[in-house]
Amino acid sequence: MTDDRKTQLAENLDRVEERISAACARAGRARDEVTLIVVTKTYPASDVRLLAELGVRQVAENRDQEAAPKAAECADVPLTWHFVGQLQTNKVRSVAGYAGIVQSVDRARLVTALSKEAVRAGRELGCLIQVALDAEAGERGERGGVAPDGVEALAEAVAGAQGLRLDGVMTVAPLAGPYAGRELAAFERLMEISSDLRAAHPAATMVSAGMSADLEEAVAAGATHVRVGTAVLGVRPRLR
Ligand SMILES: *Cc1c(COP(=O)(O)O)cnc(C)c1O
Repeated sequence: MTDDRKTQLAENLDRVEERISAACARAGRARDEVTLIVVTKTYPASDVRLLAELGVRQVAENRDQEAAPKAAECADVPLTWHFVGQLQTNKVRSVAGYAGIVQSVDRARLVTALSKEAVRAGRELGCLIQVALDAEAGERGERGGVAPDGVEALAEAVAGAQGLRLDGVMTVAPLAGPYAGRELAAFERLMEISSDLRAAHPAATMVSAGMSADLEEAVAAGATHVRVGTAVLGVRPRLR
């Protein structure tokens, strides 16, 4: 069983690798400018181990109640865990215990909580500002994220917070609003926001965009990290 699963995951990883390589070639980018993060949500720790054996080093989860035990089961595996889901402040202590990077930073209260728990845990947490391209000024998006006009203030908060490191920006292609169905345009807008951010914070170079369905558009726009679940692990039994 495990061998079958490993073969299947290896084949899927190969296909995703080919897609990323081809997208880099088309965009005139070097392959090593783009890092694959495998989103393992809903799949067991045994799959995470197989992925690590196949060379995966970056994994992502979106719910603490699932991620915390999985990360604990895989504590001996050399992996960086990304947290990519909407994060409630009462889960921050747990997340700060295993996450290397929190990609879903979208409000000042979360920055305060992350800083406090990172310091308590004696860890440095990388942070990406999640941008909601469907949110109006001053609002948060349907699936989390701060409106583009709020990025700068939030970035300042992260940059000034103990225990936190400002690494860049993240987005999920919006299902509604002016960018619905226009993934390339959405990711190009994220790149503009990233270059504004880098003007003030040159080390904040990460641009996390693109999933199984739209990783080509993300690579074309300039993403440095793509977050791929379904294309590696298979269709999830339930949408979460
Ligand atoms: C689930 C998820 C992904 C991966 O999506 P797929 O379509 O399965 O590749 C990427 N980013 C976030 C924030 C997710 O929640």
